Amino acid sequence: MRDSFEIRDGDALGRIGRLTVPRAGVTVETPALMPVVNPNIVTVEPRRLADEFGAEILITNSYIIKSNDDLREQALAEGLHEMLDFDGAIVTDSGSFQLAEYGDIDTTTREILQFQHDIGSDVGTPVDIPTPPDASREQAEEDLAVTEQALADAESVEVGEMLVNAPVQGSTYADLREQAAVHANDTDLDVFPVGAVVPLMNDYRYDDMVDVIAAAKRGLGRDCPVHLFGAGHPMMFALAVAMGCDLFDSAAYALYARDDRYLTVRGTEHLADLDYLPCSCPICAEHSPEDLRAAGDEERERLLAEHNLHVTYEEMRRVKQALRSGNLLELVEARARGHPRMLDGYRALLDHAEQLEREDPVSKGAFFSLSHESARRPEVLRYHDRLARLDAPDSLLATQGGTPRDHDYDAVWRLVPPFGPVPRALSDTYPLTAELPERVDRATCEAGADGVAAFVESHSEVELTVAHHDWPESALERLPASVAVEDLLDVESGDR
Ligand SMILES: [Zn+2]
Repeated sequence: MRDSFEIRDGDALGRIGRLTVPRAGVTVETPALMPVVNPNIVTVEPRRLADEFGAEILITNSYIIKSNDDLREQALAEGLHEMLDFDGAIVTDSGSFQLAEYGDIDTTTREILQFQHDIGSDVGTPVDIPTPPDASREQAEEDLAVTEQALADAESVEVGEMLVNAPVQGSTYADLREQAAVHANDTDLDVFPVGAVVPLMNDYRYDDMVDVIAAAKRGLGRDCPVHLFGAGHPMMFALAVAMGCDLFDSAAYALYARDDRYLTVRGTEHLADLDYLPCSCPICAEHSPEDLRAAGDEERERLLAEHNLHVTYEEMRRVKQALRSGNLLELVEARARGHPRMLDGYRALLDHAEQLEREDPVSKGAFFSLSHESARRPEVLRYHDRLARLDAPDSLLATQGGTPRDHDYDAVWRLVPPFGPVPRALSDTYPLTAELPERVDRATCEAGADGVAAFVESHSEVELTVAHHDWPESALERLPASVAVEDLLDVESGDR
């Protein structure tokens, strides 16, 4: 077990965790956002990040510090915490980004980790190779070999209590990501960044991002804290947390502000296009779009950066509360409606329902069926799998509503789409207490029929009658031939 990370509560693959950072003497509650602090251009002072935004952890770049004579000397003399004036945990990146960007850097994993240790970093990073999405297989494999060597080098550096990142690369090859994750998991390193996903996020390829995270999660132990490197847009926090990411870093708040871009949980707006500020943070409460547009460049950048931070932290709190309340997937579903590509991300998550099901808690808040996608959630899959375990009488009616007049069944169960037949004894247990719209959609009825089919498969001796409420033909077609079918609409309008 990795003793620096403790899991408190879960929903889907998401979890509330506690990351102990011994060198800083702090415990960070995850999911956590780490604002990126560029030591050359400080947009919002780290002290304010802590006091006004509640930042417990931030990330800065040791390579930038090491490459600048003044910063290097100051960091070595005072230590990072005093230099940045921040008491929380400080994570340092290594220059891998610069390596990917410029093709060359003048440091090694051993040297930069030693430097990170010497300036008082709490979580250091080796020099891995961030292989971009869609690289050739050959390239991805070659780079991964270098990254794996960097992890081995990192293990050999004496860094005391400093935690060390073990980045997981492998481009968009799921098997390579999984292999890289297994390798990283086998090291004695501490935190597991999933790297090189920024190009996917910049291109709104949230489905590919989900596949990459799913592959990494398959190779990592449950006790591995996972950092989604470069992920700072609030619109994707719910999705990424539901996939099991624990740490996020945001350079977006400052970079977007520089371009007059205003973050929201549904996407990014340009200040020039805003007639209203759809937010109640202190900045938006006190300013109108005209005020912001009229401010000087530096002032406008700072104000936008502060709004961006407020909305980012707010969404992270909302995600954590949803996780705690057991309705994270409802939030993911709501966020998926903000942008068609987010919907792709949610649909990709549902493709991994089996993987999610293995960790999803048995009991949560209320299951809200909010769209036809809800019928593919891990809770539905789990119920279909477990129907085989139920004891059933010889003759059984599963009904969505009333009981036919000449009732002669051994027992009457509920028929609950998208789950299927539900014994009375389970009616009050999650997720069978699901709230459905009055107008149930086709996919939900079809999933209910699949539940009936799964039941029949394991209970072939049971004489089953299904009384449905106006199911479409496509759902009725999925019912096994042995099942007797009644339409409750006929019963209601008939000769009762
Ligand atoms: Zn605001």
